[in-house]
Amino acid sequence: KQQDIAVIGLAVMGRSLALNMADHGFAVAAYNRSYAVSEQMAKNHPHPHIHIYKELKDCVAALKKPRKVMLMVKAGKAVDMVIEQLVDLLEEGDIILDGGNSFFEDTIRREQALRKNGLHYFGVGVSGGEEGARFGPSIMPGGNKQAYDKIRPILETIAAKASDGKPCCTYIGENGAGHYVKMVHNGIEYADMQLISEAYLQLKYIGGYTNTEIAKIFKEWNAGELESFLIRITADIFLASDDRSSQDLLDVIADSAAQKGTGRWTSIEALKQGVDVSMITASCNARVMSNLLAQRHQAQILYPDRKPLQRKNDAFVETVRQALYAGKILAYAQGFALLAHASSQYDWQLALGEIAAIFRAGCIIQARFLNDIQQAFTKENPASHLLFDPFFAKQLQTHQQALRDMVAMSITQGLAIPAMANAVSYLDMFRSSHSGANLIQAQRDYFGAHTFERCDMSGSFHHEWRRDHE
Ligand code: NDP
Repeated sequence: KQQDIAVIGLAVMGRSLALNMADHGFAVAAYNRSYAVSEQMAKNHPHPHIHIYKELKDCVAALKKPRKVMLMVKAGKAVDMVIEQLVDLLEEGDIILDGGNSFFEDTIRREQALRKNGLHYFGVGVSGGEEGARFGPSIMPGGNKQAYDKIRPILETIAAKASDGKPCCTYIGENGAGHYVKMVHNGIEYADMQLISEAYLQLKYIGGYTNTEIAKIFKEWNAGELESFLIRITADIFLASDDRSSQDLLDVIADSAAQKGTGRWTSIEALKQGVDVSMITASCNARVMSNLLAQRHQAQILYPDRKPLQRKNDAFVETVRQALYAGKILAYAQGFALLAHASSQYDWQLALGEIAAIFRAGCIIQARFLNDIQQAFTKENPASHLLFDPFFAKQLQTHQQALRDMVAMSITQGLAIPAMANAVSYLDMFRSSHSGANLIQAQRDYFGAHTFERCDMSGSFHHEWRRDHE
């Protein structure tokens, strides 16, 4: 028995993680349901520390105790099916890790069921796509705290390292906490990508900039407070040319975005929790609407585009940059507010600063300003919400006007900018001295006798509205 860990599922993510572990000297037992996939991996990616097994039972039998088995299979039923097979092969104290994008409620259910068998179950969020998994992802493990010490050396070794050398992996919390944080990470990712695509529309259709010019703008932005993985890859995207035509590749890609569901989960979960993540929801809706190609085409005839403006100047570009940065702060603030709420709801004691810290490298939303978010949440007496933190308050005070200007300009121009528009609305609800909800309470009391509270005395009041009306 000599293998340190088993990786089950050798599609792109499992294969990359197994290779990453093997590169760091861990002995990896690898298994895939379809053996052809395993053979392919052995042929294309041979590694002295990876041993491929044809049978699951042999793979598990080769493990050091307590056995550690990491699942990298398709989220959903496949996870339950593999667990069912594993239960008979494992014994008390062994550890199953699910590294897929499983729904956190499934993880809570599985952890509870497996605990009865004496097994430890970890829901492990893994972010960074193929490249991250291969060379250092951001890892979010949730499960039994004591058992974490057994898997910690492997996970923290294979994780990305932030600029201060710290691994982008930390114990998140019990049961579904790791998958929850991964889900919200993906929700934030949706909003961040939507914001960037809105800035692109503004530069192109209000500024009149070409793709090459926008690439240069993004490259410059990436040298400042917007520095992030997404801004960097976006700069590259604007420069790619199509090898089937003479056009820029971006211009021949259909503007209809796909989604796998983690953004939608975040949005639904936030509604259940009563937390406003309007920018994440707006970003999911933007993808949904983008898919209605035939409808959009038909509606174009009824509601044609305005002529593009030509606001081509440095001041305009700076306004877009500030708007994007302000939007980004608000999107991350929404995501972290959901985490803060869920933390008490599910009794996870999430360390928001540590979570920001492990997002700093390896994952899709890695960004320079996560250092600032980390600091905001790790200082003594941290603010209850990112927007109350003095650093971010100052940033928004200086950048919010640009966001308002870009939203106003885009709406006048007829450009769809749902994430930025929701960013402004969120900020204005957040800071509103008059929310208008007094009128809503009056209406509720009028038609449903739902009662209302008063500003000037405590208690619950009802008014006989109809008599006034008659
Ligand atoms: P897929 O999600 O495409 O899943 C394919 C793997 O699941 C194959 O190994 C397949 O085996 C296995 N599988 C499917 N059904 C079963 C079953 N019933 N029993 C046993 N094995 C089964 O692979 P990815 O590598 O893309 O992703 C793995 C996980 O990681 C997913 O949960 C995904 O959401 C998550 N993830 C993916 C990222 C990405 O960038 N791709 C990023 C972060 C997380 P077989 O070959 O036999 O069909």
